[in-house]
This record gives sequence, C-alpha cells and structure tokens, in this order.
Amino acid sequence: MLKTTGVPGERDLNGVFPSPERLKRGPVAIVECFETIPCNPCYTACPSGGINAFKSITDLPTIDFDKCNGCTLCISSCPGLAIMIIDYQHQKDYIKMTIPYEFFPLPKEGEWVKGLNRCGEEIEKVQVLSIIKENQHDKTFLVSIAVPKNQFKEIRNIKVGDSYDK
Ligand code: SF4
Ligand code: SF4
Repeated sequence: MLKTTGVPGERDLNGVFPSPERLKRGPVAIVECFETIPCNPCYTACPSGGINAFKSITDLPTIDFDKCNGCTLCISSCPGLAIMIIDYQHQKDYIKMTIPYEFFPLPKEGEWVKGLNRCGEEIEKVQVLSIIKENQHDKTFLVSIAVPKNQFKEIRNIKVGDSYDK
C-alpha cells in the first residue's frame, strides 16, 4: 500500500509502533519514516539516545523505546513531519498525541477540530490541548490533541478552520 498510495498500511505501522506494554509506560516517539533518503536530523536532535545511531545516512530511523522519554525535541527537526509523540496514559479513554503542524490558521487551545486519518479523511472530532513552538526561529508548531484510545492508530493529523461547535 505504501509504495502505490504513499499511505502506510497496518503492517508498516506495526513496524514503527512500540508494544502495548511500552505505550503504557509513558510518552514515546513514533517515527513514520519509510523512505530511504539521506537524512538524519531526528537522530542529531535527540539528547537521550532515543534514536539508534545510523550506520548510513540513508538508514531508516529506529527508536530505542527504552531510552526515548517522549521529550518532543525531535519532532520539529524532521523536514518530513514524520514524527509524533504518544502519551497513551494521558486519560482513561484518551491519549495525548503531539504532532508537527505547519498550516494556517493555527488551532486554538480547547478548540474542537477535525481529526484526519493518513489519507486525509475526517474520522473523528478531537480537542486541541495545547499548541507550542519549541524554538522561535522554527516554523513548526507542536500541536497536542486528545484522541480516543480506540482510534489512536488511525488519527494522524487535524484540519483547522472548519471547526466543530461543541
Ligand atoms: S522524543 Fe525525545 S527522547 Fe524520544 S526520540 Fe525524540 S528527542 Fe529522543
Ligand atoms: S528527520 Fe524525519 S525524514 Fe529525516 S530520517 Fe528522521 S524521521 Fe526520516
């Protein structure tokens, strides 16, 4: 599916998500980087050894799920917007998902927006928890959203500006 549509399928995603046991231990990075291109800023941005050393600049990044603490520092380093952080234990029924966001208008804290799947299709309304920029020179915002636990592997982005009233 990935090669023909550009959209990762279940098998691709199973290869980059940690085990359910690791998810329950705290925030962790998920790196959906599937193309072998010469790129490694995610690795150099990580202060904790959470991204395993590359043998070659074209290696795909792999996460050491025991070292990654979900600090979010790698998110905005990635030019492909391929990294998100999941905090599975955020609430009983909701995870906290932090994604890179580079569109305007920006979402507002507390706003209900459209949650999109990896094909860009709307599948659920989600609430924005926070929006920050880690570095003022950076153009990438980090948007945290609350995602229902039963959809946390489906939702990957948001659409703002056509928001829900709730
Ligand atoms: S979230 Fe933090 S610890 Fe984990 S891979 Fe990214 S930079 Fe490293
Ligand atoms: S910075 Fe992004 S695109 Fe580059 S290797 Fe890392 S995850 Fe892949």
